[in-house]
Amino acid sequence: TNKKILNGEKVIVKIGSRNIGGTNPPIFIAGPCSVESKEQIHEAAFALKEIGVDVLRGGVFKPRTSPYAFQGLGIQGLEYLKEAGEATGLPIVTELMDEGHMEIVGEYADIIQIGSRNMFNYSLLKAIGGLKQPILLKRGMCATIEEWMMAAEYIALHGNKNIILCERGIRSYDTYTRNTLDLAAVPIMQKETGLPIIVDPSHGTGIKELIEPMSKAALACGADGLMIEVHPDPSCALSDGHQSLNFEEYRKIREQL
Ligand code: PEP
Ligand code: MN
Repeated sequence: TNKKILNGEKVIVKIGSRNIGGTNPPIFIAGPCSVESKEQIHEAAFALKEIGVDVLRGGVFKPRTSPYAFQGLGIQGLEYLKEAGEATGLPIVTELMDEGHMEIVGEYADIIQIGSRNMFNYSLLKAIGGLKQPILLKRGMCATIEEWMMAAEYIALHGNKNIILCERGIRSYDTYTRNTLDLAAVPIMQKETGLPIIVDPSHGTGIKELIEPMSKAALACGADGLMIEVHPDPSCALSDGHQSLNFEEYRKIREQL
């Protein structure tokens, strides 16, 4: 039952022309929580490219707590995201929620995100082992380090070792922040699995003002990158606007990192 493939030997993941993991410089992923329109994602892509982002994010299948909340644009959104990526030359990352969309997401995305809610979806983890793209595996919000390691091991065992882990906070007794960002997981997961690991301070804290200090802390403890939610106009965002930065706020942080 113990990990056999991800045994601590360094795994370097290739994203376009970049290598992630080991001694490689950190990768910067940014973009809106959700793709909302063609205009919105194009505007974000061009602004973020200019600021110096390496990968464009945008959700099109959204795992929303409320079934009445915006659920994402689906395949139409995937097309907008792909076009924005191609127009700027930025690789794209988006979440895959179910096996039914594996083929199409596999066709469009450069990196396939498995969200916090699906980290325990073992049939999905097995299935994506068959994809050739790198997988961004977010930590389950209630997952222990050991459970997270085993989720990665599922993907590796089923054929895909190109995994980037993402610490996005866990639920704790304290609800002051949206989640409790567990930065100790960064060096632990690097050592135990050998995989690169990035940090998502947006979902990790849910508080805009904490993104800068937590981003600095993440890089200080050795994170291989950061994923941050940035929206052209956070006050109008269809999801997670309260924790999203505008371009200028992101630029200031990016320049310091
Ligand atoms: C996301 O990054 O779009 C997301 C939904 O995050 P999480 O799965 O960590 O909640
Ligand atoms: Mn979000």
